[in-house]
Amino acid sequence: QGIISNDVDDPAACRFIGPAIVDRSPVMIAIGSGGSAPVLVRMLREQLESLLPARLGELAGLAKRWRDRVKAQLAGGSARRRFWEGIFAGPVADHVTAGRLSQGEALLAQSLAATAEQSKATPPRGVAWLVGAGPGDPGLLTLRALQLAQQADVILHDRLVSEEVMALTRRDAERISVGKKPGDPCMTQAEISALLVRLVAEGKRVCRLKGGDPFIFGRGGEEAEALVAAGLPFEVVPGVTAAAACGAYAGIPLTHRDHSQSVVLITAHGKASIDRLDWRSLARDRQTLAFYMGVARLADIRSRLLLHGRAASTPVALVENGTTPRQRVVIGQLAELPELAQRHGVAAPAMLFIGEVAALASQLQWFGSDSQTAPRPTRRDATTGLAAW
Ligand code: SAH
Repeated sequence: QGIISNDVDDPAACRFIGPAIVDRSPVMIAIGSGGSAPVLVRMLREQLESLLPARLGELAGLAKRWRDRVKAQLAGGSARRRFWEGIFAGPVADHVTAGRLSQGEALLAQSLAATAEQSKATPPRGVAWLVGAGPGDPGLLTLRALQLAQQADVILHDRLVSEEVMALTRRDAERISVGKKPGDPCMTQAEISALLVRLVAEGKRVCRLKGGDPFIFGRGGEEAEALVAAGLPFEVVPGVTAAAACGAYAGIPLTHRDHSQSVVLITAHGKASIDRLDWRSLARDRQTLAFYMGVARLADIRSRLLLHGRAASTPVALVENGTTPRQRVVIGQLAELPELAQRHGVAAPAMLFIGEVAALASQLQWFGSDSQTAPRPTRRDATTGLAAW
């Protein structure tokens, strides 16, 4: 008879879905789980109900009435988006959601006139945000990083920035991967800086997303210098750097009252950079060495430290893909560093830690499969007698 029907206990026989609805007409949110978890859906709906202002619909209605006028007065999608972001996150929204619709509307009119006036005088200014995206786990993004990644017109990201983090960035932003990895010939640092400068000069808001922290082996300094030279504005957002993140997620406290009173962040990428290091000072004990980009240079690192007197039995740890579901931690001794990495097939990106604290990973490990509920299976490494997993 043309009547659509559902048999709720038999999803295959259902012809429509009946989602939970959060109704702030014209704003509508529908939540469904395909019949798998109605209670979860109900709880989500309650959360959203309490989160969203009751007068959200009026705010959307106001935007609808002004949409065409805003379009007529502000040229360019990006200028309009910025305008509306200001409206929805500022005093206009506060007035409307607090029930003062006419005050909100008057303020919107004022703000549109001022913005239109301003945009005639000066075209929208671009800005660069040099943002640290952390080591991979999206939970380690800062609030500021998230905000800016949501507002950007363009996202210029390194290969090291994880997919999970990229999924949190603005969906309709233009995304450009500059594919940076050690020795990658596809785009030089000078080309990346030039691209950044060009986009900002065009008036774009560019989120330059980098793995870890932008100012720790991230070449953020060079990009900031290029922006200063071009007279363009920028902001720097620090990120959780790989040494801190991998130390934390592998159970390696970088300093420890009993073992280590300083940490050195070092890059050992390339022979020239290895030769410039002060190995005599690096070989002293009671300090933690945190090597970035070091996996290809393990034999050099070992021989120089041994030569300058660091004990062959000094604990070492390699943390590969730290903070991600693919994290692996391998621990051993300085004497067998390259062989250890080879045996376990450790590949970049990996952090190398050298110092007494590296051995604590075997006791303090907490991150990884089932670590909350049961001790993670560890196996004895045949040659070191230390746990490796
Ligand atoms: N700016 C970044 C470092 C970039 S250099 C930061 O502050 O962390 C790239 C090196 O960082 C890699 O070769 C590796 O040594 C380290 N690294 C970055 N992310 C990592 C991760 N998730 N796990 C292990 N090492 C990582």
